[in-house]
Amino acid sequence: MKPAIADGHVVTIHYRLTLDDGSIADDSFGGDPLTYLHGAHNIVPGLERQLAGKNVGDTLEVVVEAKDGYGEYDPTAEQTVPKTQVPPNVELKVGMSFQTRARTGQQMPVWIRAITGDNVVVSANHPMAGQRLNFKIEVKDVRRATNDEKKHGHAHGPGGHHHH
Ligand code: ZN
Repeated sequence: MKPAIADGHVVTIHYRLTLDDGSIADDSFGGDPLTYLHGAHNIVPGLERQLAGKNVGDTLEVVVEAKDGYGEYDPTAEQTVPKTQVPPNVELKVGMSFQTRARTGQQMPVWIRAITGDNVVVSANHPMAGQRLNFKIEVKDVRRATNDEKKHGHAHGPGGHHHH
């Protein structure tokens, strides 16, 4: 008997993410499922919360509001910076993300939103910020995490992290 989904378990799911305009933003059905460590914030909080207690074989529709997904869209979180401020290992392409240091000294991800001449517009908004997320989920597997997985905060093995 497989355990129900709870903190400290490694969960494998198939998922389809549809936005309110009907576009499919991501879809694992027909490909490799996603394996993640439950309770470690590997997935958006609203989805993680609604998966708790579910079992292998369950299928469910989960609606996640923006604030419990990729966050509300913050128009003040955009900034135009010279291209020279983008780390050299980052491809200068719309949609690429990289880590930058906030004023507080904390690392935070930003996304390239536009490129104009010698400047790029970077945004701390996730590309799907402000969107309601509509998930179709099928729970494929649940197992207890290993000590290493708990220590690392992510799942290992197929569908999870691979260390080289
Ligand atoms: Zn690891």
